[in-house]
Amino acid sequence: MLYVGIDDTDSKLGMCTTYLAAVLAERLAPFGLHGYPRLVRLNPNIKYKTRGNAALCLVLERGPVEEVEKIAVKAVEEYARFEDGNTNPGVVVHEGEVPDDVRAFALRVVRDVVDIPEALLLAKKHGMRVRRFKNGRGVIGALASIGLDLYDHTYELLAYRLPENYEKPRRLDRESVYRMDAATYPDTWDNVDLRNKVVVFSPHTPDPVLYGIRGNSPEVLLKAQKMLVTEPVERSQIFITNQGTDMHLVEAKVADVRNDRSYVLEGFVCDEPQAIEGGHVFFGIEQAGASIKCAAFEPTKNFREIVKQLIKGDEVKAFGSVKGDTVNLEKLEVVKLAQLVKTSPPKCPVCGKSMESVGRNKGYRCRKCGARRALPIYEKVKRDLEPGLYEVPPSARRHLAKQIIRIKEPWCRTHPGR
Ligand code: ATP
Repeated sequence: MLYVGIDDTDSKLGMCTTYLAAVLAERLAPFGLHGYPRLVRLNPNIKYKTRGNAALCLVLERGPVEEVEKIAVKAVEEYARFEDGNTNPGVVVHEGEVPDDVRAFALRVVRDVVDIPEALLLAKKHGMRVRRFKNGRGVIGALASIGLDLYDHTYELLAYRLPENYEKPRRLDRESVYRMDAATYPDTWDNVDLRNKVVVFSPHTPDPVLYGIRGNSPEVLLKAQKMLVTEPVERSQIFITNQGTDMHLVEAKVADVRNDRSYVLEGFVCDEPQAIEGGHVFFGIEQAGASIKCAAFEPTKNFREIVKQLIKGDEVKAFGSVKGDTVNLEKLEVVKLAQLVKTSPPKCPVCGKSMESVGRNKGYRCRKCGARRALPIYEKVKRDLEPGLYEVPPSARRHLAKQIIRIKEPWCRTHPGR
């Protein structure tokens, strides 16, 4: 097998490495495409990323390897946005089996932060062909796209625009998107956000992507595409991908958390939710003496209503990336609710009137007869919040976050966001 990994070719002002891969899928077809091109999403917290930290890999049946490399490099030279200071393309070509240490490296690129020399050393060790442009940081993603084991995977069909339309607003018949979604959900997902009434499968950035349909199988994606009414599509490409797999998440202790990584953390709510200006909601969790702030930011919309109902003592699991010492929530499991207790002044044991508080922790006194009591009336209050797993809505979904509907055997009650 022959692997061609590419990364870091686009800029915020245009292009998309997936488009380059789609073009290459056509140009490299004579070498025998093996399976669908691989669209791998890497650590979502990497500061160098343009958008979704993607890297692409094409797998071919045969060479000659020199020929393949030449075609790949030419395509990068043709399409990469070199004028952008943050575009540093890398191409890696590998012939043979994927070595174990390259697989391990790839998983670290999804979960951790690595550096360019490490990627170069590893590629060199296995005799891979490496082409770097500018500082060549893309070699990290290119190598990871070759090595990543897609032990769990989904598919995405990306449709691209005619170049003459790039500058124009995207033309998509919304009704057809809603119809397609209704007909294919839950085998496709995140096409629309029903609750927040937005089409989410089409970007607003100036890149060639018209839309991306995500789903369980190539067949359902093709069926879904046929239902759409849109502007002309220049080309479409189905990718196999680690999107929607939670591959970035690592179970860890709160005390061991590091910024720029993503985790599943268990703990008890220690600071109750507080909404700040801008609509962001923060709360704290504590585990074995260590604590961390968790955030449901404004774009997570209705998910914040769930978060706001947490109280001190609730047992939760927080799923998300840590940035600035704060967990950016993607999912939240409410494991066990604390008992909410309301206190109210007791009735006077002598004359039956409501008593009044004497002061904090000082007990109660009857205004009429002067009788005193130490304790209030405690009343258990039913919580509005149900235990179970919650997720941010489709409009706030990160590429790697696993949709609740993809969890085959849920360990708890689930509340999919739709
Ligand atoms: P593109 O479509 O061009 O791939 P993007 O949003 O996917 O856009 P890039 O422009 O590729 O982001 O920028 C990400 C850069 O960070 C790449 O050079 C990639 O090699 C590098 N990178 C990715 N993951 C890691 C990581 N875990 N540690 C260090 N560098 C990383």
